[in-house]
Amino acid sequence: MITLKNVNKSYQVGGENVEVLKDISLTINSGSYTSIIGPSGSGKSTLLHVIGGLESIDSGEIWVEDKPVHQLKDFELAKLRLDNIGYVFQQFQLLSTATALENVMMPLLSMFSSQAIKKDAVEALKRVGLEHRMHHLPSKLSGGEQQRVAIARALMTKPSIILADEPTGNLDSETGVRIIELLEEVHQKDGVTVVMITHDQILAGRAHETIHIFDGRIKEKIS
Ligand code: ADP
Ligand code: MG
Repeated sequence: MITLKNVNKSYQVGGENVEVLKDISLTINSGSYTSIIGPSGSGKSTLLHVIGGLESIDSGEIWVEDKPVHQLKDFELAKLRLDNIGYVFQQFQLLSTATALENVMMPLLSMFSSQAIKKDAVEALKRVGLEHRMHHLPSKLSGGEQQRVAIARALMTKPSIILADEPTGNLDSETGVRIIELLEEVHQKDGVTVVMITHDQILAGRAHETIHIFDGRIKEKIS
């Protein structure tokens, strides 16, 4: 479960304090499928970043799988991310000099030898339908294929939560729907909590709940 209580977050920009998240309180249940929609600059990405402990908050509380994210030290946050959270980004964020297989192994390479995790990585690539592309560099893959590699990479740590920030933003609509279907399959088969930011009303509507954000505030939550 993800719980935010009265979360405030601001950035200092050129000596000025810009409030980005304003008194955000919300609950996202374990095993749910939630979309976040709102205009550009409304704070959607920041919201995902603070949930994953990638950014600190000014005040309030954030609880992820019973852990107080707002109180954790850096190494505890790293552990929480490794144990629980998979990220999927609009820009895929693959390492350009590494093959699909190497990219998928990446999250675990600091702890295990590539030999130990290769089989799981191949399985993850199989799952996203890309086994036949495992030795390709990202530049030799289409956008949709690169996003599949990113999803396989997220699955490697067996996350209980996937945070996806506009995962279809760089894809044509048909390819985008395939990616959403893949995330939905992971949600259904593995019971993973999926939180997805999107600009697309139709894609947002596929989720069970939609959180509308406007100017750093939650406007409404539709179930
Ligand atoms: P969204 O994802 O909804 O487009 P963001 O969360 O990326 O919105 O950004 C919300 C606001 O916070 C924007 O005004 C943006 O310029 C500002 N912002 C985001 N990240 C930073 C940062 N690292 N430093 C300063 N301002 C930032
Ligand atoms: Mg964003």
